[in-house]
Amino acid sequence: MSTTLHIDGDRLLKRLDQFAAIGATPGGGVNRPALSALDQQARRLLSELAFARGFRVEQDQMANLYIRREGAANVPPFVIGSHLDSQPMGGRFDGALGVLAAFEVLETLEDRSVETHTPVEVVVWTNEEGSRFAPGAMGSRAFSSGAIPPEWKEAKDQDGVGLDQELTATVAALPEAPLRPLGAPIAGYLELHIEQGPVLEEEEIPVGIVTGIQGTRWLKISVSGEAAHAGTTGLAFRKDALAASTSVMKRFYDEIMPKDQNARLTIGRLSVSPGSINTIPAAVDFYVDLRHRNNERLNDLEARVRDICLAETRSTGCQVVIEKVLDMAPVAFPDKMIEVTEEAARKLGLPARRLVSGAFHDALFVAGVAPAGMIFVPCRKGRSHCEDEHVEPSATIAGCNLLLHTAIGYCKLNVG
Ligand SMILES: [Zn+2]
Repeated sequence: MSTTLHIDGDRLLKRLDQFAAIGATPGGGVNRPALSALDQQARRLLSELAFARGFRVEQDQMANLYIRREGAANVPPFVIGSHLDSQPMGGRFDGALGVLAAFEVLETLEDRSVETHTPVEVVVWTNEEGSRFAPGAMGSRAFSSGAIPPEWKEAKDQDGVGLDQELTATVAALPEAPLRPLGAPIAGYLELHIEQGPVLEEEEIPVGIVTGIQGTRWLKISVSGEAAHAGTTGLAFRKDALAASTSVMKRFYDEIMPKDQNARLTIGRLSVSPGSINTIPAAVDFYVDLRHRNNERLNDLEARVRDICLAETRSTGCQVVIEKVLDMAPVAFPDKMIEVTEEAARKLGLPARRLVSGAFHDALFVAGVAPAGMIFVPCRKGRSHCEDEHVEPSATIAGCNLLLHTAIGYCKLNVG
């Protein structure tokens, strides 16, 4: 008979249902915008569950919420968690799974009177999704830098409601949770999340151990030519910004991803002006989303993109301006965290594989101040940010057990 400690799977599944009801959409998804009344309701429910277990609940000025179970030593805590906000038509697992599994870990430790050397804290990061207030991952960014960037003071949602006002309201809605300073030393951070990609499901592997998060750059490419009459202007006289742009794009598609299986290039936004059927386009703006797990390769790819832009626009008599509008370097999680997670998976008899996260998460920012790591569970067809998002109960429970044993393993490692 196995004496391995296990979480209470039924309790976790029930909690996922309970939280999915807060902001439930007709198609089985969740619409719980960051800092909305629904987000506040979810925070209140979690806090009440925490108070019922005698855990301490605190929050900071960024409305990050912390639930603490004391350890044997008064040392910085090991932190586990994720986010409770969702996309406007989001799924019920993205974020909520990580928070509720983290809380289940805390309850399991309490149920079995497991003493950890290190205190364990559950965290709910504010506004990970970035769909109501930009940018995303505000809570973990502010935590990691220890301050709220002044420009966020101006952030408003599409109805003109200010971030500042909603932060104040959200913190005030939980008067039982005292304020603590933003940012504090932590022993480590671990986040359970759905994969949001197809690898684990395809390979029928219940858990993934994330080795890092790939880097992302956004380049705004503005090509300018000359507007002229579509009927009277012969080929030799045209400076067609769209013709130049499509040559550029064709080479991107032929030369970036096909030559490097870890490269990702997407053009998802494009505008043509003046946008008249019978006028040669004078200007085209488009955005390139470029990703890679290796920063050197990302530099090479960006250089390649720039070269292609210059070559193709010059040959058509157009001009190009390239502006980098986002640059997030890739992060590699420390070997120690990966090894402790692998050891925990072995102990549980869970098949696991290493993988790199294609999307960014709060862990990317927390990794700047502490050893961080992530565990992925498969989601159906790799789909997320939609009502169809689905995780099998067995994977939910497996992921939570792995979170539990990794947390225990890491806290032990921390002694001495
Ligand atoms: Zn998420």
